Amino acid sequence: MTTKTDYYESLQVARNATPEDIKKAYRKLAFQYHPDRNSDAGAADLFKEINEAYQVLSDPDRRASYDRFGHAGANGAAGRGFEGFEGFGGLGDIFESFFGGGSRTKGPARGRDLEYRTTISFMEAVFGAEKEFDINRVEPCGRCAGSRAEPGTAAARCATCNGSGQVRRVQRSIFGQFAQVTTCSTCRGEGTTVATPCTQCKGAGRERRRRKISVNIPPGVDTGSRIRLRSEGEPGDPGAASGDLYIHVEVEPHEIFERDGDDVLVNLELNVARAALGATAQVPTVDGLRELEIPAGTQSGQAFRMRNLGVPHLGSSGRRGDQIVIVNVAVPRKLDDRQRELLEELAATMGDDVSPGGAEDGWFGKFKDFISGDGN
Ligand SMILES: [Zn+2]
Ligand SMILES: [Zn+2]
Repeated sequence: MTTKTDYYESLQVARNATPEDIKKAYRKLAFQYHPDRNSDAGAADLFKEINEAYQVLSDPDRRASYDRFGHAGANGAAGRGFEGFEGFGGLGDIFESFFGGGSRTKGPARGRDLEYRTTISFMEAVFGAEKEFDINRVEPCGRCAGSRAEPGTAAARCATCNGSGQVRRVQRSIFGQFAQVTTCSTCRGEGTTVATPCTQCKGAGRERRRRKISVNIPPGVDTGSRIRLRSEGEPGDPGAASGDLYIHVEVEPHEIFERDGDDVLVNLELNVARAALGATAQVPTVDGLRELEIPAGTQSGQAFRMRNLGVPHLGSSGRRGDQIVIVNVAVPRKLDDRQRELLEELAATMGDDVSPGGAEDGWFGKFKDFISGDGN
């Protein structure tokens, strides 16, 4: 599951930002990440995120609801329903507080997962590769190390919640009076507020950074493989785990090799003489050219297995699939005089028989059996 980024972080504004600040931040970021201008991987997702954040934070009611209830409050019935006792979500909140008597504060949220895509060549999939990714992610601010306060200044105890991070509110409802405990919206549950916000992140504690990340693509991946880099996603709330970074792999087709699981399929053309007489063929493999003994009398469509020349099994060192060589017997389209002479001579020795030396097991033999009544 992916966790949504905090809307204030998406717009890179402080939690007490004015509507003007929010509008300005949105304009700047929307311009920067608009898909028409920015073709970076992930830019479209960021653009969507920025828009979503702006839609909520630019609407005073939705912003207030978001401040109290988080994403559920901004988008679902929970926040709004609660105020007017309208929705089931709202009643659920009440029941929970009423009967549970406890708080509804959520635990710290895990960081958001990031997903990127990469296309690699067939050979890179077989032998592995190192790929560099331009990752655009939110990280703790480099100036304040995530404290949100300008270096040299200290965070002060939150006056709203007196440092507890929680606000207790007495609610009157059809069930009578009860106390509801929610996360303090002033300090977002952290218990401290910042008097002098960090000048770099404007008190957000986080900033968006571009990072080059080198990723080892292991041998044996295939289209649809997903590589997970633990904790390389976005950071979570204080005390929560970072998200993960996922790389989705797509493998380009190869000119001569085809993949069947961990086996590699390759077609081998043999002329009719070599197929009939047998030959040592030079066969391309992912390891380079290898010799394959073709027995006399090889037929079109016959397959030969070359062991251990396929794709390494993903995640198991040393073990590999096989290469499967499928023979296609090619009949010459053009003959010179000498070849024609030889083939005519050959034809004379064979008559109508399609399988000389193989007794009468060809179609012609069966046909003769059929008309003489020997067969079935
Ligand atoms: Zn900062
Ligand atoms: Zn507070």
